[in-house]
Amino acid sequence: MGTPGTSIRYRTDNKTYRLQTGQTPIVRPPLYNEYGLDNFPNGMNAVVAVISYTGYDMDDAMILNKSAHERGFAHGTIYKTKVIRLDENERTNKARSKSARAINKLFGFAPDSFVSAATRSKLDSDGLPHIGAKVTEGDPLCASHNVTYDPAKTSSVAYINNDGVTQLHKYKDSEVAYVEEVRLLGAESGAEPCQSLSIKLRIPRSPVIGDKFSSRHGQKGVCSQKWPAIDMPFSESGIIPDIIINPHAFPSRMTIGMFVESLAGKAGALHGLAQDSSPWRFTEQDTAGDYFGEQLRLAGYNHHGNEPMYSGITGREFAADIYQGVVFYQRLRHMVNDKFQVRTTGPVTQLTGQPIKGRAKGGGIRVGEMERDALLAHGCAFLLQDRLMGCSDYRREWVCKGCGSFLSTQPTVWGGALGGRRGKGTGVVRCRRCARKLADVIEEGSEVGIGEEWEDGSGEKWVGGEDTTIVAIPGVLRYLDVELSAMGVRMRFNVGP
Ligand SMILES: [Zn+2]
Repeated sequence: MGTPGTSIRYRTDNKTYRLQTGQTPIVRPPLYNEYGLDNFPNGMNAVVAVISYTGYDMDDAMILNKSAHERGFAHGTIYKTKVIRLDENERTNKARSKSARAINKLFGFAPDSFVSAATRSKLDSDGLPHIGAKVTEGDPLCASHNVTYDPAKTSSVAYINNDGVTQLHKYKDSEVAYVEEVRLLGAESGAEPCQSLSIKLRIPRSPVIGDKFSSRHGQKGVCSQKWPAIDMPFSESGIIPDIIINPHAFPSRMTIGMFVESLAGKAGALHGLAQDSSPWRFTEQDTAGDYFGEQLRLAGYNHHGNEPMYSGITGREFAADIYQGVVFYQRLRHMVNDKFQVRTTGPVTQLTGQPIKGRAKGGGIRVGEMERDALLAHGCAFLLQDRLMGCSDYRREWVCKGCGSFLSTQPTVWGGALGGRRGKGTGVVRCRRCARKLADVIEEGSEVGIGEEWEDGSGEKWVGGEDTTIVAIPGVLRYLDVELSAMGVRMRFNVGP
């Protein structure tokens, strides 16, 4: 996030990310000034302590000082522009000649139409939103009504409302926004009434747990806590870091530049200097560490950049000195508010009955083979079943214990026990495959009346095939059964007693 341009006020991008509290970096190359980048701030000078503090800085997580956050550290805004078109067939209309172009809708409330007072209070009398108004999901963004053209009248009253109905165009996003700007987009000729509206919305994005930050050395991390300042470590002069990062982020990545920047930033802050970050300015004999270390020494600090610090929780001094300095940090556009996903039940695919993909559509997060293996390794059998069945394509199916197949269509005989049609039938679910013609049973002379007999559509009488039960299965298992049977392969399930 940063300052993407000089004319933000006049822009109508679909989406823009903006940083509100940008600063000029203490450590910078000469080109930074030459390009005038101070007009486009894109980060903040943060006091950074490199220390493994509470465990909340594990694995590229970083702890944000809550007071720094409250002072406005890394505060950002997203601007979104929504265009509302009254004429949905604008293209086809444009293709026609101008004279034939039909205008059948106008912005604003229909005269004498009923609109609740609550809705009216959310829009101005012209049917457009108030500048600065807060909009939440489902709030109206503007109103429009149907009209007919009366050629006999003059232009201002030529459009007459015909049905007394006001249509509301609603804000569909789930996030709270504020109306920044409303633009009426002029019609082609200029004489015709406006047919589209551009509404710029402002969405405040103060940093929250889960938002991403980075130094200019690619040391990116996610905020894991906004730690109260009183519980943060502090130095002898009482300085509390804005950010805590874990020392384990350095050995494997070898971002030595960040240490140098930390040192230079600290010395620059103490002396009021803008430090030059051009590469190759130093040699093995004349090192950056010595140069900035000397500046630190002159300011009364340890020339290595370490300093004694005290635990904000116990108040006792740490056994080791802590490397603390000033590093320019950037806010990245990956924010948890755009990414979080949660679901119990929701939309499913027709074919399998499993949850659909996609955050926007309210889908689920896939528990793949690796996740399954992890759950297995932890012995979390019930959790595993809940993911793979309960919250997925759980289904109950009739199965025949005799032949081990799913009952294909619904029960052979609808009965009261199933809550189906009354009267005919016994209420027993039977397997057609295992049922026998009553005539055959009698001819053979074997026992008659294994169950009650029933009649099929052709008038034939059947008996038996009632050794069925209900099993809980994943819906795709049934789908697999169907696909295999389409290829002439039968699946047989041995269902226990
Ligand atoms: Zn059967």
